[in-house]
Amino acid sequence: MIKVTAIETGKARMKTAQRTGRDERGPVGRKIDIFRDPNWVDPLPILCFLIEHPEGRFLVDTGDTWRNSVPGYLPGWNPFYRQVSIRVAPEEEIGPRLRDMGIDPARDLSAVVLTHFHHDHTGGLDHFPHTRIIGPRENYAVSTGIRGMMMGCLPQRWPVWLDPELVVPDGPAIGPFPGSWPLTNDGRISLVPTPGHVAGHCSVVVQGDDVAYFIAGDATYLQDNLHAERTDGVTNDPATARATLRAIKTFATQQPTLILPAHDPDCAVRLATKAVFA
Ligand SMILES: [Zn+2]
Repeated sequence: MIKVTAIETGKARMKTAQRTGRDERGPVGRKIDIFRDPNWVDPLPILCFLIEHPEGRFLVDTGDTWRNSVPGYLPGWNPFYRQVSIRVAPEEEIGPRLRDMGIDPARDLSAVVLTHFHHDHTGGLDHFPHTRIIGPRENYAVSTGIRGMMMGCLPQRWPVWLDPELVVPDGPAIGPFPGSWPLTNDGRISLVPTPGHVAGHCSVVVQGDDVAYFIAGDATYLQDNLHAERTDGVTNDPATARATLRAIKTFATQQPTLILPAHDPDCAVRLATKAVFA
C-alpha cells in the first residue's frame, strides 16, 4: 500500500509572467517581463508531498519558513525577491504540519528528497537535522555561493549541518526519462531528471497501486501549463524546459498519472478524486 499526501506549508505569490513565460522570449526577456508585469497571480500553495511506502515514509521538498515573511530574511540586494511574496505562519511550516498528522519529523521519516534547492523548497530543512537529505547533484552545484543567491537559493540560510546526499539520475530509464535514481529497493519511488526550471531539477515518480504519481517540484507550476507545453518565466533554458514538459506528458499518457506540481492549487483535489492526466 502506497499513499501520497499533499501538505500545504503556506502561500507564495508570483507575477503572472513568472508562472507562465512567453514562448517567443529567451531567458533575459522572460525576466524583464517579470519585472514589468503589474499582475500577480492569486496566492499559490507551497506544497510538500509525503509518500508512505512499505520501506518507510519519504518527504518530497520542505516548503519555506515563517522567517521568510520577516523583513531582512531575503537579501535586499537581489531585486528578484521583490517579485515574489512568501507568507508562512510558524505553525504552517512542515515540522508542525507533520506533527499535526501524528508524524514526528525528527524520527519518522526515512529520507527527505529535494527536487531542487530554491528557497521555497529548502526553507523547512531545519526540522530534519537527523534525517537523510537527498538532492540532485547537478542542481546543488548551481545553488551554492553567490551564484545560488542570484538564482533564487538562500545557501546562507541553510542549516549549518546540511550535508545532503547528492545523487545523479543515471540509473535505469523510466519511460521517456533517460535515467533515474531509485529511492526504494523495490524501485517504486525514483528520481527522474526534469531540467529546465533550473539546471539539474529532478522530479519524483511513485508507482502507486493503481496510478502513478508524478511529484513535479517546479518542473511545471500548473497542470494546465503542462498541457499547453508553456514554460515558466524564470527558466534560463526554455528549450530544455519545453523538452521536459513533453517528457512528462509522454510519461503521463503511458500510464494513468496524477500530476503534482509544488504550486498547483488543484493537487489536493486531484489526489482526493484520483483525477489522472488526460
Ligand atoms: Zn523553483
